[in-house]
Amino acid sequence: MKRLVLVGPGHAHLYVLEALARAPLPDVETVLVSLGTRQLYSGMLPGWIAGDHALEQLSFELEGLARAAKARLEPSGALALRADQRELQLGDGRVLGYDVASFDIGSLPAGTELPGVKEHALVLKPLERALAVLSEASQPLGPLLVVGGGAAGVELALCLQARTRRPTLLLERGEEVPRGASRAARRLIRGLLAQRGVELRTGAALASLEPGSARLESGESLPFTTCVWATGARAPELFAPSGAAVDAQGYLAVEDTLRSPSHPELFAAGDCAGFISGQRVPKAGVYAVRQGPVLSANLRAALTGEGALRPYHAQAGFLSLMNAGDGTAVAAWKGLAFHGRAMWHLKDAIDRRFMARFQRLAGQRSEAR
Ligand SMILES: Cc1cc2nc3c(=O)[nH]c(=O)nc-3n(C[C@H](O)[C@H](O)[C@H](O)COP(=O)(O)OP(=O)(O)OC[C@H]3O[C@@H](n4cnc5c(N)ncnc54)[C@H](O)[C@@H]3O)c2cc1C
Repeated sequence: MKRLVLVGPGHAHLYVLEALARAPLPDVETVLVSLGTRQLYSGMLPGWIAGDHALEQLSFELEGLARAAKARLEPSGALALRADQRELQLGDGRVLGYDVASFDIGSLPAGTELPGVKEHALVLKPLERALAVLSEASQPLGPLLVVGGGAAGVELALCLQARTRRPTLLLERGEEVPRGASRAARRLIRGLLAQRGVELRTGAALASLEPGSARLESGESLPFTTCVWATGARAPELFAPSGAAVDAQGYLAVEDTLRSPSHPELFAAGDCAGFISGQRVPKAGVYAVRQGPVLSANLRAALTGEGALRPYHAQAGFLSLMNAGDGTAVAAWKGLAFHGRAMWHLKDAIDRRFMARFQRLAGQRSEAR
């Protein structure tokens, strides 16, 4: 009997579990390692804050998903990887050996090492922490500060402001908001933020947080009562000391087949994978989703020894849909950008279809109808 360990119930692993439920692998024991028994879907989190969805609509029960795939759930998380020994240390202290292990554990927010951030900001990942956002943010307190002007920061600023009506400031160290978006999308978002009374500060790098006050590198102090941390990604801490090859940022190095170049029994997908071929793969859920079927086929090939590994090729771009918190959304696609109710309905339909697929698999009553 061989053992396949899937570490992290991220987007790509959902497809692996679905394929295992459809076509089990003979003589393979599958273990799913997670942090807790529930997985939250980040794409619907801003909508939950805005009051569009109930919590059950954006969560998967992992016991049900594991059961469907005939896998065992280990919810205490992975603490350490010892790649040369083919061992994974679990959060409860036990050590799990494997024949093949695959990682889809996402990324961590960048910049949390700055003084005061861990103590005074609501850091979004792991997403369970984000559940604290609404309860604190919805208090009739003073100003809200959202740090990070990527798509997630923009959505959160708009949704939090719509829900709480508190004065909201969005802070970004670069000049582009949302980071990496087209000129048309940036112009539309700037206009929308202004119209909704969300103050935007670009070129503003945060140096530290103290209770009630954020200090910028320029020396300026900004008052806040709730600070939400929505910066870019950094690598999970598991990989650097593991003995497996990592890329320059510390993500688990993978070839285009999603396999480690140093340890052929290791695979990675989603945010935690670092592509060494040089192909550009942004850290976004839509890319992790497209890696799912390739990862699934390649894990099967690695375990059975049948068939060659398939390469994954990232799509050239993607439709970005940002919830504006008031029943409208912004869609950005290639150089174009649109705003309105129809975009919200499109986002809602895509999110609900994704959730329904895996909630059904988990035997959960599909909340996402
Ligand atoms: C508010 C917000 C909104 C977003 N909206 C979008 C969007 O609309 N579209 C989009 O494409 N991207 C969006 N993103 C980005 C997106 O969340 C990530 O890029 C995406 O989730 C990455 O998917 P993944 O499969 O790599 O990992 P994740 O979805 O992050 O899943 C990783 C899982 O592994 C678990 N895990 C972590 N460490 C361990 C461990 N040591 N042991 C076991 N389990 C572990 C985590 O708890 C988590 O359940 C958004 C992000 C945020 C914060």
